[in-house]
Amino acid sequence: MHATTTRDRPQDEERARRLAQAFGRSGLLVLPSSVAATAAAEWAMVRTPAGNRLLVAPAPECAGILAEFDGERAERDGSPFLIGLLNARSAAALRRHLRWLTPGPLPASASAGFGDRLGLATPGHVRALRAAGGSITPVFAQQSIREMTRAARPPQAVIDDATWGSFESGWRDGQGADADHLKTADDITACAAAGFTMFTIDPGEHVDPRADAGRPAELRAAWDALPWDRLDDNAASMRARLVGRAFDVEGQRVVFDEGALVKAAVKYGRAVAHVTAMYRHLCDVMGGRPFDLEVSVDETDAPTAPVEHVFVASELRRLGVRWASLAPRFVGRFEKGVDYIGDLAAFEADIRVHAAIARSLGPYKLSLHSGSDKFSIYEIAARHTRGLIHLKTAGTSYLEALRAVARSAPRLFRAIYVFARERYDEDRASYHVSATVAAAPDPARIADAELPSLLEDVHARQVLHVTFGSVLTASHADGTRVFANDLRSTLQAHPEIYDECLERHFVRHLRPFAGR
Ligand SMILES: [Zn+2]
Repeated sequence: MHATTTRDRPQDEERARRLAQAFGRSGLLVLPSSVAATAAAEWAMVRTPAGNRLLVAPAPECAGILAEFDGERAERDGSPFLIGLLNARSAAALRRHLRWLTPGPLPASASAGFGDRLGLATPGHVRALRAAGGSITPVFAQQSIREMTRAARPPQAVIDDATWGSFESGWRDGQGADADHLKTADDITACAAAGFTMFTIDPGEHVDPRADAGRPAELRAAWDALPWDRLDDNAASMRARLVGRAFDVEGQRVVFDEGALVKAAVKYGRAVAHVTAMYRHLCDVMGGRPFDLEVSVDETDAPTAPVEHVFVASELRRLGVRWASLAPRFVGRFEKGVDYIGDLAAFEADIRVHAAIARSLGPYKLSLHSGSDKFSIYEIAARHTRGLIHLKTAGTSYLEALRAVARSAPRLFRAIYVFARERYDEDRASYHVSATVAAAPDPARIADAELPSLLEDVHARQVLHVTFGSVLTASHADGTRVFANDLRSTLQAHPEIYDECLERHFVRHLRPFAGR
């Protein structure tokens, strides 16, 4: 993948100018960055009073392609064209014609996942990528099953919103699509059907935390009870294979003694069996289509010890699993929406070893989950992984959306903040956060002009961060949404404010990885 943007191609610029002129007379505002030309048609995103639409102007002999899209047909100088709706059918057809909009596997170099809970953030993400320079491959479509459920947003909508945003921005440099934190085979089936190409399997529920505190007798019983058949293994053969075995990790030896093996196997054995089963299901449903697998154990209580990382990687390998990235649980605290909490030297020592293991047993990437706002560790992570890294952020684009709303619609933002404070204690349950409502500024004491500054307050940030599902799905008695529609229409009315917030925020995330 290499940089080819619309702006690099003079013939496209000329085409964009002509298209804008031709359709401008009909009152359509052609967005220049979106203009594309193929043998079959010229394509553009146009802004209309009713919202963005897809303009398809086919070559004379290709007018038949208009039937692939939903929208209104019209004629200009005797040639048909279409003003298309941005729906799922049109998105699928557009991906067929403009192949670069179709997500695919990521290259073995730095990549970044941008969660987008509202589906309007891709143009801002593209601006940040361009401003950061380098060749970071983006994952615009990325949402966990938990977030899709909470925000009542199906997998197809996540893919399609990224398609429209990439099209609008003229992004042609490749992209992945990450179905994040999948826990069941049904999750995988649904996300594969929607067009996801990266599948993050979270076996966290199968990690046994007793391993860290268990007494020897307890550990022994848990070892005997491991799902040996699902591991295609038995206790004697695992012992023979691993006890005393030294893995050479760039000159450092990682050795399993009996105790370390039993502990690692008890803690991660069921997780390995689960990932293997999910991987086999994934291979079935993808039927030969290429994909990236990510294995994430980041949401466990105790950090992943190096010997445990080696256990997971070498066992998955033995079972025939192929993966592109792995998210260990690093030392320190990775809370939502705030910087790394912990000792930087300890983090550096930790990621250095994990990166060496990932190079020696792969190579595969390390994935940094809850990766937003961790400004103090980016340089360390980029250096030790030598660019074999995936930075994953999820809710921080939603916070930037709220910042844009605080600037452009203070009353709406205030209502959301008041509501979020009411919801926080319940909604925080499945997230790593430590904010309290009491410590978050009292909305009654904040003037409208100061509302955007709440996005700098760590307590307010976490309160807003984890309540997105409640905010987006809150409904009146008649079923209409309390906030979601106003939130979207505010952002759509001020795209330049939202895009600017996103660019400024994400450039700081991307720059440390841009040169890798
Ligand atoms: Zn995660």
